[in-house]
Amino acid sequence: MNSQDTGSAQPLKSSAREQYEAFRARGLKLNMQRGQPSDEDFDLSNDMLTAVDAKDIRPGGLDLRNYPGGVAGIPEARALFAQMMDVTQGQMLIWNNASLEVQAHVLTWALLKGLPASTSPWATQKPQMIVTTPGYDRHFLLLETLGFELLSVDMQPDGPDLDAIERLAASSERVKGVLFVPTYSNPGGETISAPKAQRLAALTAAAPDFTIFADDAYRVHHLHPDDRDTPVNFVELCQEAGHPDRAFVFASTSKITFAGAGLGFVASSVANIGALSNWLNTQSIGPNKVEQYRHVRFLEAYPGGLEGLMEAHAQIIAPKFAAVNEVLSAELDGQNGNSELASWGNPKGGYFISLDTHLPIARRVVELAAGAGVSLTPAGATYPGGHDPHDRNIRLAPTRPPVSEVREAMQVVACCIRLASEEYRAAGK
Ligand code: PMP
Repeated sequence: MNSQDTGSAQPLKSSAREQYEAFRARGLKLNMQRGQPSDEDFDLSNDMLTAVDAKDIRPGGLDLRNYPGGVAGIPEARALFAQMMDVTQGQMLIWNNASLEVQAHVLTWALLKGLPASTSPWATQKPQMIVTTPGYDRHFLLLETLGFELLSVDMQPDGPDLDAIERLAASSERVKGVLFVPTYSNPGGETISAPKAQRLAALTAAAPDFTIFADDAYRVHHLHPDDRDTPVNFVELCQEAGHPDRAFVFASTSKITFAGAGLGFVASSVANIGALSNWLNTQSIGPNKVEQYRHVRFLEAYPGGLEGLMEAHAQIIAPKFAAVNEVLSAELDGQNGNSELASWGNPKGGYFISLDTHLPIARRVVELAAGAGVSLTPAGATYPGGHDPHDRNIRLAPTRPPVSEVREAMQVVACCIRLASEEYRAAGK
């Protein structure tokens, strides 16, 4: 791209270029790319490493070291995470590390065998799946790899564009469902409103097995104790709407205890949990019971339990989110997440902030930032196929670096937005 600094906005242009070169000269190495907890977050859960010893290996009489126990998880873990998901123990299945794996299991099951309400395996029906954009790149990767055709709908401040979902769901039996993040979405931080969730639970679909795949990864990840979004309960809503088996709600402890050694789980109707258990039983005698019990012991002993732990995380993470907003506002002359060059969210929870440049320069901003030592999520990653049709969206992930680095990284990002905007205008686009 042409980066010559000419034209009427000369002073601002040269200062952005100068500032950029000054950042480059500093040899920074900052990473705002992936949504990972910080070591400080992990340290909150270190007691989990020693939470179970030889005298604890038979809770309720079940020997955690042996095979028996079943695939739905140990009762203690099912009960504990049922509270988090607002369902009953029988509506929970606790698996191993990573909820993405649980999502993949359910989708693969649907493709190869069909869900209980299906007339035939989804793989035989050229299945389509609705997704929200901007969205989570790993959802797109998983669905595309499994052979789904993706149908994008906009994520709006109060959740997915329900008009679009209703239209698509009614249009064809091939539309098998919707996969999205209902609470503090990735990347925008939006939470679906209760009215929209009700509409989704009740919508009339052409497919008898239309399914809500709700990846509730950030259900309990509030940033402020007194200013929270309210997560919805899809299992209950679907039951009330007369579609008791319509929802699978996934979550994990990846951003609660350890991202690399947590628990992934799913809430659904008792019938679905039973059928999914039968499917998983063909592949595994059961999940890691010691890890499950370690989580139970640790979370029950933590002051204030799960809620207390999430508040401790919030104290670490909230200042990082605040830093993003402060620096962007200051550097881009913005107010309330809006400036002449870009707009960005100020979510009440979750792990990400979504930024939209006003000009189609996201790719260039990410490239410039990389040149100055700041790695951002690749532009386009928030859209299926890695292609942002507007080239405007950038996902910011402030949780891993310390606040000082978040500030520095955001100064670089703001500078790159100014510079890329100038380049774009100078090129007469
Ligand atoms: N879902 C969403 C929406 C996420 O943002 C992430 C992590 N970035 C995950 C799932 C991954 O969760 P897990 O580690 O449980 O697979």
